[in-house]
Amino acid sequence: MQDSPGIRITFDARVRSPAPTVPVMAAETLSVETGPEGQVHRFALDHSIPPYLLALAVGRLESASTGPRTGVWAEPSLVARARAEFADLEAMLTTTEQQFGPYRWGRYEVLVLPPAFPFGGMENPRVTFVTPTILAGDRSLVALIAHELAHSWSGNLVSNATWRDLWLNEGFTVYLERRIVEAIYGAERAEIEAALGRQDLERDLAALAEHPGDTVLHVDLAGRDPDDVFSDIPYEKGYLLLRRLEQAFGRPAFDLALARWFAEHAFTSQPTAEFTRFFREVLLTQPLLPGQNTPDLELWLTSPGLLPDAPQARAPGLDAVATAAASFARGETPAKKLPTRTWSPQHWIYFLRSLPLTASNAVALLDQLDAAFQLGASSNYEVLAQWLLLAATHDYRPADARLERFLVEVGRRKYLTPIYEALLASPTGQPRAHEIYAKARPAYHPITQRSLDALLAPPTLAGPEPIHLPDR
Ligand SMILES: [Zn+2]
Repeated sequence: MQDSPGIRITFDARVRSPAPTVPVMAAETLSVETGPEGQVHRFALDHSIPPYLLALAVGRLESASTGPRTGVWAEPSLVARARAEFADLEAMLTTTEQQFGPYRWGRYEVLVLPPAFPFGGMENPRVTFVTPTILAGDRSLVALIAHELAHSWSGNLVSNATWRDLWLNEGFTVYLERRIVEAIYGAERAEIEAALGRQDLERDLAALAEHPGDTVLHVDLAGRDPDDVFSDIPYEKGYLLLRRLEQAFGRPAFDLALARWFAEHAFTSQPTAEFTRFFREVLLTQPLLPGQNTPDLELWLTSPGLLPDAPQARAPGLDAVATAAASFARGETPAKKLPTRTWSPQHWIYFLRSLPLTASNAVALLDQLDAAFQLGASSNYEVLAQWLLLAATHDYRPADARLERFLVEVGRRKYLTPIYEALLASPTGQPRAHEIYAKARPAYHPITQRSLDALLAPPTLAGPEPIHLPDR
């Protein structure tokens, strides 16, 4: 079938799988029969979806319940961990419904895939597929689950009509994600996530400085592969536009408009022009909050870079972390005296990103951190990946063994690309990058292989063209 988000389909399926494998399809299970050929599952999805959401996994999978409408799927050794990590699924579902309208897909489950899965998550209807790297043991990385769940409204219920309109899908979803995190884990955590997202956005804007057209929300993709233009722009800049609207008109009016957007466009695919028409009519006609101006939608949608009225996250806790990083780097605060007792993994990530490391001080400072906190042994993949990125960037050799094991075991593109790029940028790292890639490549997913081949291998090794909607 044609792969365009503007097309919507329903389907049914009959899947035969040999014991002990079980098929999990992003659809409703109608029946399961055991016959001479093994188990036969019948699936159907009566709600229309764009074809990129058609998904099937088969494996030795077991399920566990997390609530009346929610649950997890994983290989037997991971089921208990997944259930504990995602115990807030039911609360996330209920809170999103209360604010933005009913969940229209029946059940909501999360399937934990093997570590080769190239993305954080994929929002397949009724069953999100996720990387096992978010099983941190303390629910600290479940913003990703909030994100995929939010796609049940923005993206799956109301889809982008073309890939130019991807921001309608991802920007709305990041906005909902942070509202879910706020409702379940508090405003401070949501603001910290927003501040880290702003850093990601600024990093991508800097990387695209030579291609300002690619930093436009309603980006021009004529003649290009949408995957080649993929960045955090539609996610984080799109989020900032919705937050700007909330800031101008207040949360009650904005929430009402958003709930209407989902209700009135349910099971359709929409272009950016419809966003402009609808929000002009429904929200921009409402009274502004005191001291606010009407955001210029046209400017937001067509200008490159960050707009002057882009809202700022309020995360004072992170300012203290940045101060601590600077003081540590100047030698004023020893590692052991850093106020880390109250730091969440997000504080640690911000700390590592904020360290003013240079060629002359990096190895000594990383040595001190390693001795005090053993960050290379962290069970939190976001912290670990940030640590290994610093190690690769600054040629910190004590991390060599952990770095290699990480690159061989994990296939999540978001982690791998920057680490390989950092290795390739140093004379000692370059041969190591090629050596490790030769070992690791066979176990990577074809999408990860294709991205990394562009950096590391001759084009003759390139895999097939991928067709997907990635989520970081
Ligand atoms: Zn997404």
